[in-house]
Amino acid sequence: VQFSDYGLNEEIIRALEVLKYVDPTEVQRKVIPVALNAQDLIVKSQTGSGKTAAFAIPLCELVDWNENKPQALVLTPTRELAQQVREDITNIGRFKRIKAVALFGKQPFAPQKIELTQKTHVVVGTPGRVFDHIDRGTLNLSRIKYLVIDEADEMLSMGFIEQIEKIIKQLPKERVTMLFSATLPEVIKNLCRKYMTEPVDIEI
Ligand code: AMP
Repeated sequence: VQFSDYGLNEEIIRALEVLKYVDPTEVQRKVIPVALNAQDLIVKSQTGSGKTAAFAIPLCELVDWNENKPQALVLTPTRELAQQVREDITNIGRFKRIKAVALFGKQPFAPQKIELTQKTHVVVGTPGRVFDHIDRGTLNLSRIKYLVIDEADEMLSMGFIEQIEKIIKQLPKERVTMLFSATLPEVIKNLCRKYMTEPVDIEI
């Protein structure tokens, strides 16, 4: 299987060529077709497996360029990961002109607020700061169709699960939810049972 076999937009294929991604990794082979089919996903896989592109490619493919409000929300445990994911999405979505914004703490609020007034397709952020934006009314979630929870086990050890639940409750119910984690402790399985619909289990 090659990336050209997934029926992706030419703009996405071209971006993958620039990135020199030719063969999908195992997690990408398992995740991309399911995500493109808009099914919920629980993915047990390590970092370094290519998991970021596994969700970034379908997100870039599926978002509607013409919609001004954010359509995808990616939650990450750390600001470094948020920046990395934002960069990967920007690279994969560059020819489709996908706009991704990163929101994380210990940074002034105002520039993020201004960024969010512009057309934004994907928001990537840490739960605390994302919730601050929701609370202050600077992040409109009414058009979110895709939610990705990345490194869920790290979120758990950092005490973010309650905040994630508060965020999920603000999202439209009609959406695709994908969760990535190296391990699946009971708390995370519960979160999946509560907020997913017939999720597909993928283990790498
Ligand atoms: P990740 O597990 O998402 O942190 O990705 C690990 C590294 O693999 C990153 O540096 C990616 O740029 C790279 N990568 C992801 N997918 C592919 C691919 N299909 N071919 C080559 N490199 C890739």
